[in-house]
Amino acid sequence: VQRLGAISEKPYRAAQILEAVYKKYAVSYNDITTLSKPLRGKLAVQVPFPVIREASRQISSDGTIKFLFSFQDGETAETVFIPTEKRATLCISSQAGCKFGCGFCASGLGGFKRHLLCGEILAQVLYVQKEVKGRVSHVVFMGVGEPFDNYENVLAAARMLNAPEGFHIAARHITISTCGVVPGIERFAAEKIQVELSVSLHAPDEAMRSRLMPVNRRFPLTMLMRACRDFAQKTNRQVTFEYILIRDLTCTPMAAKELVKLTKGWLAKVNLIPYNVVKEFPYLAPSKEDIQGFKSMLEREGVICTLRTPRGSDIAAACGQLRHVKGK
Ligand code: SAH
Repeated sequence: VQRLGAISEKPYRAAQILEAVYKKYAVSYNDITTLSKPLRGKLAVQVPFPVIREASRQISSDGTIKFLFSFQDGETAETVFIPTEKRATLCISSQAGCKFGCGFCASGLGGFKRHLLCGEILAQVLYVQKEVKGRVSHVVFMGVGEPFDNYENVLAAARMLNAPEGFHIAARHITISTCGVVPGIERFAAEKIQVELSVSLHAPDEAMRSRLMPVNRRFPLTMLMRACRDFAQKTNRQVTFEYILIRDLTCTPMAAKELVKLTKGWLAKVNLIPYNVVKEFPYLAPSKEDIQGFKSMLEREGVICTLRTPRGSDIAAACGQLRHVKGK
């Protein structure tokens, strides 16, 4: 509305455009026939649609589809569509590349290029909905990039995903995942939107976490856990902790004990992710026994926990396998 005002157009035009984009899947002003031709031309120049081009697509044997998108300047991002019987989940990217350099994740290997704009984040959802001819029911900000490092664009995108005049996806079906950017968690706790918070924990003590995740040197585990407990207290919402199981490292009985101390007795939940192999790193996937053993140790202590089944690993679309593919 503001942008239309700036080019002296009437506010109701915004509603027409939103309706066309979100309900009728318009991808350019030319598709919006409720606008006059001269107006379409003027808008295309002054308030351009975000450019999104499909650079490639891979389809997994389990039905997962990985899209590589390229934007106006040739920068790229990957998006993963994960259908199940009951859900159609889309895993979207918030940045081209990532600056956090976690020691097990392919997304940081190519370095950081730039933030994605709100329109570029939303365009991933629009594009996929149009391609699969159906609505996305769940959105997770778990693609390439750190959502809280691109806070404003990510929040604006989450609001539009939730808005009735936008995608109209329930806030509880939208999840933002952070590697532990504490100021972002604090800010998010004060937002009036019930979007889910996930925190990539991955290690239960300072030393191991600093070794695996450089972000822990800036925002140490103790500070992170305090911010998470404050979030739960303030919002009365659960915090989900993602926890990677790496053989002989993060899934030992000792680690389980430490993890219980961190997550027992408050609104916390643990989502276990068996490590997906990334060839540049030396780590190994856990065995079935490791996984089950670790899970039952948590459950025995009353910690709520789930196990994430990897999807799309044959096309490198599983957690931690998405990369920044060189643009242009
Ligand atoms: N930067 C945000 C969003 C990315 S989410 C965050 O870190 O939360 C991607 C998830 O996959 C994160 O939990 C990440 O830690 C996890 N991941 C990264 N590498 C992985 C690997 N090799 N195997 C399994 N999970 C991995």
